[in-house]
Formats: sequence, structure tokens, C-alpha cells
Amino acid sequence: MRPKDSNVHEEQTRAANIDRWGLRCRCGLELTGSGEDGLVGAVNAHLTDRHPSVAGAYNADDILALAYRLPTSSFSVAVAKESV
Ligand SMILES: [Zn+2]
Repeated sequence: MRPKDSNVHEEQTRAANIDRWGLRCRCGLELTGSGEDGLVGAVNAHLTDRHPSVAGAYNADDILALAYRLPTSSFSVAVAKESV
């Protein structure tokens, strides 16, 4: 059973801000992205650049299973510029 309140909260969060996702790479670097697609793209780019031996070894589901949702706050403005 899913409480109604969680749905409402989720919709409000999405409307206010793009979801921010983070993932701590095994090398210690924290990768972040805007939305699930953004994080998957950031991780794949990092793997290709830093860990070519495992580049392409993880699909989106694998990556998102390790990801955590970041709190949305004013810093998302700076990140939005960075992601361009
Ligand atoms: Zn890494």
C-alpha cells in the first residue's frame, strides 16, 4: 500500500526542481546529474574517461541501483550551468 501523501510530495518536488542524483564512484569521486538520465550520462562519461576497463559494463538500472537522490536546494543552479 502506498500512502497518498507520498505521491503528492513527489509531484511537488518534481515541479519545483529537477531531481538531483548522486553516486559515489569506487575511486572516491562523487558523480552527480540532473535527473536519472543525467546521472547515467555522467557516470558513463566518467567511466570512459577514468575507468575504461569497465566502461559500458553498467547499464542504467545498475547505475541507478547505486545512486542516491540529492537534496534539492539553491546549489542546483550552479550545477545546471555545469552540466551544459
Ligand atoms: Zn571513478
